[in-house]
Amino acid sequence: MTSTTMARRHNAKIVCTLGPASSDRETIAALAAAGMAVGRLNASHGTPEDRAAVIERIKAVDAAQDAPLASMLDLPGPEVRTAEIDEPVQVEAGSELRFVVGDAASGEEVGLSVSIGGAQPGDRVLLDDGRIETEVLESDGRTVRARVDSGGELGSRKGVNVPGIDLDLDPVTDRDRRELEMAADREIDFVAASFVGSAEDVYAVGAVLEDLGMDVPIIAKIERAEAVGSLEEIAEAAYGVMVARGDLGVECPMQEVPMIQKRIITTCREEGTPVITATEMLDSMTTERRPTRAEASDVANAVLDGTDAVMLSGETAIGSHPVRVVETMEAIISEAEASGEYAALREDRVPDSGDSRTDVLARSARYLARDLGASAVVAATESGYTALKSAKYRPDVPVVATTPDERVRRRLGLSWGTIPRHAPFTGPGEGTDTVIRNAVQAAVGAGVVASGDTVVVLAGLMTELERANTTNMLKIHVAAERLASGRSVVAGWATGPIHRLADGDLAAVPDGAIVALAHGFDEEFVGDTTKIAGIIDAHAGMTGYAAMVARELDRPLIGDVSLPDDVADGSTVTINGERGVVYEGDLAAGPHDG
Ligand code: PEP
Repeated sequence: MTSTTMARRHNAKIVCTLGPASSDRETIAALAAAGMAVGRLNASHGTPEDRAAVIERIKAVDAAQDAPLASMLDLPGPEVRTAEIDEPVQVEAGSELRFVVGDAASGEEVGLSVSIGGAQPGDRVLLDDGRIETEVLESDGRTVRARVDSGGELGSRKGVNVPGIDLDLDPVTDRDRRELEMAADREIDFVAASFVGSAEDVYAVGAVLEDLGMDVPIIAKIERAEAVGSLEEIAEAAYGVMVARGDLGVECPMQEVPMIQKRIITTCREEGTPVITATEMLDSMTTERRPTRAEASDVANAVLDGTDAVMLSGETAIGSHPVRVVETMEAIISEAEASGEYAALREDRVPDSGDSRTDVLARSARYLARDLGASAVVAATESGYTALKSAKYRPDVPVVATTPDERVRRRLGLSWGTIPRHAPFTGPGEGTDTVIRNAVQAAVGAGVVASGDTVVVLAGLMTELERANTTNMLKIHVAAERLASGRSVVAGWATGPIHRLADGDLAAVPDGAIVALAHGFDEEFVGDTTKIAGIIDAHAGMTGYAAMVARELDRPLIGDVSLPDDVADGSTVTINGERGVVYEGDLAAGPHDG
């Protein structure tokens, strides 16, 4: 994997809907560089073939960068839409409309994709995001006659909502199945299920995925009043949840949406279920170069609520400047996350752990990281479970999630504060130390942890155990970047600035220095030898002059080692005389193994 981009670092992740304005490879790469973690494909528009090509492009961009880029297929589900028409029709307030199944489209008769015959007199039927409002006068179980209360222009394939009414539609339609068949061969990372009303609907989608041999996490879209009422069970049944405010604002009274959003986010945070806040976040930027103040506040408020991710829809799918929208969103998120208010909120609402072992350890890791001034919580995870639990407690530092599973790596990109990286778990005959070393090295490679930094490592020691949802190891660890290794000559640890000695004169050697002797060095030291904290010697012998001095001074010495040229004089190194290893940085802070 090559690193062409360094993704921006913020806790709340960005999901972008890809469409005609953003489906080419260059734009996908630019969106990812600006902060996109997940590319969403809305199956309500376009064709499965188009989507297949975009999924391949997302994968190509993911492969070319270190930060993960995941794909999400958003299924239309049991949505009701008006017929496809060439020209919009005018629907007059006070007139009567007939809703039928089919292609009809006039000011008197509106064709629908499925029957709303279950609607009863008095029920409201809303068209085009609620812009056109009607009330049912009569239904014969198939055709519905309604009075238009507020009229307007009706375009092609507009959404139809019958708020609060269960139309008894199949949670997975034939169209959904065709989409999933296309996605089955392409390793899609998430499937978003629209219009779910209950946990059973989520399981029904899961059953179709299973039939197709797909092991893909489901994001349940909360957009019906019924789903709001079954939130806990849906959040438990699904991998993640989306606050789908578009339909939610039509299915429920608009004024309820802000508090429903907060309740959904709180429930998900407390359960550790990833939650996406969606729709109209920076809507005006679909055409404008700047968002409204209200939109900026909306994004910041979702971040303060603790959402895992914020989503862009038309802004990136059909907007005039998709990359600029993501940059704007990223700037708003970063500003909110840098605030004292954000830090205080996070500190105040750490969920209880209950008695699950993984939760107890993940919650402890959060506080250990804070109290030790650690740079990261490093979660070595095979299934992703340990990382999800680490993110649940919203630590002050990034959760670096290392996993050998590429699908897990990509999907963890959606989770709050999580920086996923690929790392092998264990090779044949290797144990916990290797898991930890690989994980911490990946955190160093991600630029989150420097040599000498303290990290808190969490892991399921045996992969089988982690699969059984058990994280059973927590370790406080000091990251160590190995610069060189040689042979142990005199034992002991020392940390200090490196000083390459050209001759024996110690006058210019700083106090507490680690002196490095090159192959040609054959002089005796002249000056105050007590300034020497340790020696790195290119010579191999155990009994040479430098070894004798080191023993006399009781200073560690590593022999047969050459320091890389790019280690600058004056830079701090730590030497471990026992193991013959030179590390970058000050590792005096605590225990480690290189
Ligand atoms: C929504 O309704 O807010 C939503 C995200 O779903 P869609 O974009 O499919 O309407």
